[in-house]
Amino acid sequence: MRSELLAWFDQHQRELPWRRTKDPYGVWVSEVMLQQTQVDRVIGYWSRFLERFPTVKSLAAAEVADVLSMWTGLGYYSRARNLHRAAQQIVSEHKGRVPREVKDLLELPGFGRYTAGAVASIAFDQETPIVDGNVARVLSRVFEIEGQPQDKVREAKLWERAGELVKGARPGDLNQALMELGATVCVPSSPLCLICPVRAKCKALAHGRVDELPPPRKAMKRKKLELAVAVARRGKDVLLARREEKGLFGGLWELPCVELPGTLEKLLGKRTTSIGPEMVVIERTLTHRDLFLHVFPVKVGARALGKPPPGYVEWKWVPVSERKTLGMSSAMSAVIDEALGDFH
Ligand code: SF4
Repeated sequence: MRSELLAWFDQHQRELPWRRTKDPYGVWVSEVMLQQTQVDRVIGYWSRFLERFPTVKSLAAAEVADVLSMWTGLGYYSRARNLHRAAQQIVSEHKGRVPREVKDLLELPGFGRYTAGAVASIAFDQETPIVDGNVARVLSRVFEIEGQPQDKVREAKLWERAGELVKGARPGDLNQALMELGATVCVPSSPLCLICPVRAKCKALAHGRVDELPPPRKAMKRKKLELAVAVARRGKDVLLARREEKGLFGGLWELPCVELPGTLEKLLGKRTTSIGPEMVVIERTLTHRDLFLHVFPVKVGARALGKPPPGYVEWKWVPVSERKTLGMSSAMSAVIDEALGDFH
């Protein structure tokens, strides 16, 4: 199976910018971006990120807000914060060089078994396995591995199989071949078994069970999150606040907001002189949540802003035209677009 996978990968792999590098930093950034984000979307982000922060040292020295601003639109902002923290740790503990051993990589913020295995195998040719959703699908079909996607026994079997397969020449390419096969041929529904390089070895195909494996993931119950959002303007400026590091949207800039039934009066306190009627409700779908943003025009007194409201570490008046330079979630960016229209 190894030789078939490698030969197929050599011929059919997609041309992706991070595949042209063995620089562990570039590989690492690509792997973090690719978690839960489509390849097509990542291409532009990866190139811009590497242009702005070309080395581990430059990333470590950057302000977290700058890192988050380069991440705007990718979602899962904790990934960016961990990337930044890990870069700082690499500078302080590893002289700015990404460690090559899995055990050292696992000590870094944001590194799990997957990311450590990917960096060690792709950048350092270590025989370390990786199992992501694509690899899990391929292996569960080829070896007829049963069990629900979150099942621990299934997980252990998948890692064991991946560990056996990666032993030998070109471990990084072997891992990427498995991922690529899952992304382009052994896709979730209607896989292209006719052109699959490992079809002769695939047990699910032989037993007519391709549609059964892996079983569909049980749907997670979605949560509803309702926020009251304050749009306060002063001339060409809009009032923005930066969240504390933890939690949803942690560390990002946004219009000051509070989860209902909390109120903007309470959030903004005495600085508010008036709150107008609700302008609009904007709905956004996040991975596990349905977000409802109730937008209110707010007048804030002319006095200095003083301490930021609870849940925020700073706040300030920002020219509307400059807001895109700050790290902000796409949900909040959409609110500003809608609430301020073409106001610049
Ligand atoms: S033969 Fe079909 S089910 Fe089996 S690995 Fe290939 S694409 Fe997947």
